Amino acid sequence: MNVLVAGGAGYIGSHCVRQLSAAGHRPIVIDSLVFGHREALAPDIRFHQADLADEATVRTILQTERIDAVMHFAAFAYVGESVSDPLKYYFNNVVATLHLLRAMVATGVNRIVFSSTCATYGIPEVVPILETTPQRPINPYGRTKFDVESTLRSLQASHGLRFACFRYFNAAGAADDGSLGEDHTPETHLIPLAIGAALGRNPPLQVFGTDYPTRDGTCLRDYVHVDDLCRAHLAALPLLDRAGTGLFYNLGTGRPTSVFEVLDVVGRLAGRPVPRTLATRREGDPPSLYADSSLAQKELGWTPRFNHIDSIVESAWQWHTRNPTGFRR
Ligand code: UDP
Repeated sequence: MNVLVAGGAGYIGSHCVRQLSAAGHRPIVIDSLVFGHREALAPDIRFHQADLADEATVRTILQTERIDAVMHFAAFAYVGESVSDPLKYYFNNVVATLHLLRAMVATGVNRIVFSSTCATYGIPEVVPILETTPQRPINPYGRTKFDVESTLRSLQASHGLRFACFRYFNAAGAADDGSLGEDHTPETHLIPLAIGAALGRNPPLQVFGTDYPTRDGTCLRDYVHVDDLCRAHLAALPLLDRAGTGLFYNLGTGRPTSVFEVLDVVGRLAGRPVPRTLATRREGDPPSLYADSSLAQKELGWTPRFNHIDSIVESAWQWHTRNPTGFRR
């Protein structure tokens, strides 16, 4: 398939481009490079630097590249910033996606795989989280993703759009050959910050809250390897036409890991404890989020290959130790 990868120069998108090529598909990337890195793409990958809100350009790309399906990773994803600047998130994550969808409708491209998030569930009453768990996002970031999911449902009814929404849990890790990984500015995620602290590149890691009702008082999250996320995207492509309805899948390992447990793994790899300070809770952090991904297993045949936190953190460790300045060499 000719697959337009929106946000293909970003963290998850670039890993997906790699897998699409390896599987014999033809990925075509559109990325504004606001957060993405051109260096994350092999030189032979077709690349368009453009914003999704530039609808005329997107329409031209859909037509001239003879696109069969779209994978949409392009979004802003800082929860805290979404609270302080919601319009930035609604414009970038919702309005830009509406332009993309209108361009798809206009050109007859009717397949899309969308990156959604467990943040659409807010603070669930019950864990593990199923796809049927009520979605009650508690911040604008989660709401923007939820709004796009709703729009896709409406377009399925009105225009026969074929779509899959993947609700990612905590994406982590890096490509196993050490050539691709996480490079965010600013970085806010636990694993890269803990590795940076262990290597003396960052200040000590602040542990946000040690008084949660969990086994060691810190938050539990479901860390899932970026390459496993991408394998689910590829598995969904052939299903889009068959399903006849929108598809929704949680993607996580189903194993909750605490902040302290992540720090233990990083400390073992570093050969010394991760420098840390105990801080207060970060606003909006649910105590425990982990997935029941049995639907993805049943319908996509998806099981995560990296099913233990040790191997996930180890792959991130390889990337960060080998690439101290990320993609900037
Ligand atoms: N966390 C932390 N210190 C940090 C960053 C994150 O204690 O500097 C905690 C955070 O409170 C959450 C977990 O680590 O419980 C994962 O946070 P992250 O930002 O990586 O992902 P999120 O779960 O917010 O999507």
